[in-house]
Amino acid sequence: MNPCQFHGISHLLLDIEGTTCPVSFVAEVLFPYARKQLEHYLQLHQHEASVASLIERLEQQWQQDPDPQAAQLLRDSNTTGPFANPAKAVLPYIYFLIDNDRKLTALKDLQGKIWAEGYSRAELRGPIFADVPAALRQWKNSGIVLAVYSSGSIPAQQLIYGYSNAGDLRPLFQHWFDTHTGPKDSAESYRTISQLMATDPAAILFISDSLKEIEAADRAGLQVLFSDREGNPQRASGGYPSTTHFNAIQLNP
Ligand SMILES: [Mg+2]
Repeated sequence: MNPCQFHGISHLLLDIEGTTCPVSFVAEVLFPYARKQLEHYLQLHQHEASVASLIERLEQQWQQDPDPQAAQLLRDSNTTGPFANPAKAVLPYIYFLIDNDRKLTALKDLQGKIWAEGYSRAELRGPIFADVPAALRQWKNSGIVLAVYSSGSIPAQQLIYGYSNAGDLRPLFQHWFDTHTGPKDSAESYRTISQLMATDPAAILFISDSLKEIEAADRAGLQVLFSDREGNPQRASGGYPSTTHFNAIQLNP
């Protein structure tokens, strides 16, 4: 294992999936969990204002959805009579959205609520790679500022780290960024982040398993490291420095 040495780093900016936790977690654990809990969760919480308004938003989206399959589902459900139970009535549409990978905000919000409950009941745990917590602690202790930049929402990021297999890791991080700051494959997003952290781009080390993200951060003048974890779909670092393990990273003054 060749140590990757970096100089003049004051800030570390970390991707999550493929970098500090397995890529498979979202697809193989989080999404199936939300699907499995959906009906039960809606039955239980449909009378809470925030859940009732999500159901209402989904019903409205369904009425306006131009997809022929969604329209057919709506006709089918209308033939079964008036909706005695709105939470149950909207289920076919939610399954349709999930199966077609439609990223509606109302659906994402609903999944977020289900995950929050799953984490708090200890049915979900953020599977942080074993070498990560110790490395993060050591860097933080040496004065490095730690930050997260993930396409998962900030609340979802904080659930993974807050309920991780290594305990609550949230206090290690000083900054949290999601795509509200900008897309991860745009150099502009990394310039914005360096301004928000009030530091020179060259003093930030960005670690990610996505070559597009690495290239964008490189264009913005950040130092970059490609994360080549076991199980990642993309293993070619495109000539950038690369590591399989945080133990191999050396940050020098
Ligand atoms: Mg990633």
